[in-house]
Amino acid sequence: MPRFAQVILDRSTGKTLDYEIPAGWDGRVAAGSRVRVPLRNRQVIGTVVAVAATTSAPGVRPLAAVMDERPQITPVLLKLAKWMAEYYGCDEQDALRCVLPRAVRETGHAPLKRKFASLAKPLSAEEIAALRTKAPRQAAVLEHLQINGPVAVARLMAETGASDAAVKTLVRRGLVEVRAEEVRRAPLGSEEFVASQPPVLSAEQEHALEGIRPALHDPAAHQPIVLKGITGSGKTEVYLRAIDEVLQAGKTALVLVPEIALTPQTVERFSSRFTPQGIAVAVLHSHLSEGERHDEWHRVRSGQARIVIGARGAVFAPLENLGLIVIDEEHDNSYKQDEGPRYQARDLAVVRGKMEPCAVLLGSATPSLESFENCRKGKYALLELSHRHDGCVLPVFRVVDMRLRSKDGERNDQFISPKLGLAIESRLAKGEQTILFLNRRGFFTVLACKSCGKNVECPHCSVSLALHKKVDLARCHVCGYAQKPPRRCPDCHDPQIAFSGVGTEKVEAVVKKMFPSARVARMDSDTMTRKGAYHETLGAFRSRKIDILVGTQMIAKGLHFPGVTLVGIISADSALHLPDFRAGERTFQLLVQVAGRAGRGDAEGEVIVQTFSPAHPSLQFAKSHDFDGFAAHELEMRHNFGHPPYSHLVLLTARADTAQKAEFAARTLAQKLTAAVPHTVMVSPAAPAPLARVRGMYRYQVVARGKQIRALTKAIKESLGAIKLPKDVHVAVDVDPVALL
Ligand code: ADP
Ligand code: ZN
Repeated sequence: MPRFAQVILDRSTGKTLDYEIPAGWDGRVAAGSRVRVPLRNRQVIGTVVAVAATTSAPGVRPLAAVMDERPQITPVLLKLAKWMAEYYGCDEQDALRCVLPRAVRETGHAPLKRKFASLAKPLSAEEIAALRTKAPRQAAVLEHLQINGPVAVARLMAETGASDAAVKTLVRRGLVEVRAEEVRRAPLGSEEFVASQPPVLSAEQEHALEGIRPALHDPAAHQPIVLKGITGSGKTEVYLRAIDEVLQAGKTALVLVPEIALTPQTVERFSSRFTPQGIAVAVLHSHLSEGERHDEWHRVRSGQARIVIGARGAVFAPLENLGLIVIDEEHDNSYKQDEGPRYQARDLAVVRGKMEPCAVLLGSATPSLESFENCRKGKYALLELSHRHDGCVLPVFRVVDMRLRSKDGERNDQFISPKLGLAIESRLAKGEQTILFLNRRGFFTVLACKSCGKNVECPHCSVSLALHKKVDLARCHVCGYAQKPPRRCPDCHDPQIAFSGVGTEKVEAVVKKMFPSARVARMDSDTMTRKGAYHETLGAFRSRKIDILVGTQMIAKGLHFPGVTLVGIISADSALHLPDFRAGERTFQLLVQVAGRAGRGDAEGEVIVQTFSPAHPSLQFAKSHDFDGFAAHELEMRHNFGHPPYSHLVLLTARADTAQKAEFAARTLAQKLTAAVPHTVMVSPAAPAPLARVRGMYRYQVVARGKQIRALTKAIKESLGAIKLPKDVHVAVDVDPVALL
């Protein structure tokens, strides 16, 4: 029997403390248990990371209490947290915080109880009728229960108009019973799914499934698999079959999807396949309420739900006996957590897959160059789907050179080229649908003074304010600051201050004007603030109540609408010119993904891309749907410059309320680090971040680049520990950053 528990406190600095397991607690405490322990004269909460027979610590005190009947954290997830702490250079308790969501960690989200009413005994129609004249409401209640069976008391009252008193009277008279029942806070709403008959697999899909099968049954002997399949090639169907096989084998499955694609569509496809077979699907993503998250988590931990679909945080879903992890759209940036610990869920999924062990399937039309390079090196296996089912073809791609656009007859609608305008018109005439994509919100996106040239920025961030016309506000898209649009330049007070640039709000307005009979809707984070708005708009679009949908990347991925035959990309340039070596890759991915929304039905699709850089390789390769060509070109460049995937980057960002403090911290850190690492690691000099100021904090960066990430994060941790930063200077450590802003 282990007598001591090694505990990491929730609010500690990464140190493990030993506590004695009191006699008589046999079997109640194990690694992964949450416990309450004495610390000085208080009690605090922590996680048991290991148990041991001995301890070398003096004066060990006993544990005060165990929080749950069995450990909340499974052995694999404990191991994963440890791996995370080492790889990402964070403290272990911070990693554990990711593993156990707050809704579960903190009390106060206990199961919800609701009162249900039912008939206490069978009643005849005459008995009910006898009551009708004396107490019509009471009769209505009995009738309702007679017809519908047990129902929530609140609903019973709403539907019969009976008062609380009327129900209580019936209970007192022994005619009705009321009891409290635990109800699940279900994020999916209705759980009634129509069973869908799986389609017959195409030869290609069959071949892919055969390639995956060995890994499903003997995961320890197999590498992760990349399933590279063009948009609409039926990857999801392959996931469904693979999941079915692991479920048949008595195991469980985890499906990660990008946050943005967590539409009812995705979840529905999985639920409608498995729920009718009696297999419960749980969803875990950031839009759940804390109560929903609590209930879903426990449904998974208890083994009730055997499939989990979720966004990046679901990589920590407490599934046991895991057979398969699917990472859909594995290239998607939303897998990267943007606050500490800044983990990459796709990479953690691969690590978890190895620890379980279970099969790992990474799917995408445009795999990340990291994963693709792993295939080229033989670390991952590669399977391909290169046809759309039923012979649907990929859309035709047309690049419109905006530099040559004719100017006659157009004024404020110049960002819609005549070519795109005509294409939209022809779709409207045929009753087909159009998606217009632009990655910028607002009406105008830049505010500048024509007289002195001043670019009016957010008072807290180094970005231009954007005009949101409907609410008549100038807004910062970084921190959310908003003000009335200024009428004069804040510097020279000239009234010649003007907004320019185009955002989705303006696209919507102009399109409405150009095509007055068209039904136009906009989907971006400005219009989608209300819960359910997303579902509503997509539902309306699917049932063809909308002709033209204007939106940001929210509409770029994973959606499937057979009626869409035209996708217009208003400007491909915004993503191309970011100060980031991944700009080309991101643009290519975006173009291919957006283009994939077109032509998924019987009619051929068309994509029109407007740009000022028509010769850019990302555009040219996207135009011919040539992922391999793009990857070869881009990887060669990355190799020449030593960029990832041929190295690892660590981005250190120092933040302070003055530029001097931030710069000083970054410079000191760069010096310390340069001295601490071998010469194979390159440490950049400190420089202002491209986003030089955010929320009033000045930002300076240092980028370290090396091949051995652990040695590097260790050196960074030590350097950070060795320099004494003032309290008001913060340094964020981002291992394998996805953006260098
Ligand atoms: P992807 O995930 O690669 O984008 P999907 O799995 O969403 O592709 O498939 C695209 C469309 O093709 C969906 O409507 C899906 O129902 C359909 N589909 C996939 N596989 C088959 C098949 N074997 N037979 C018929 N239809 C299929
Ligand atoms: Zn701001």
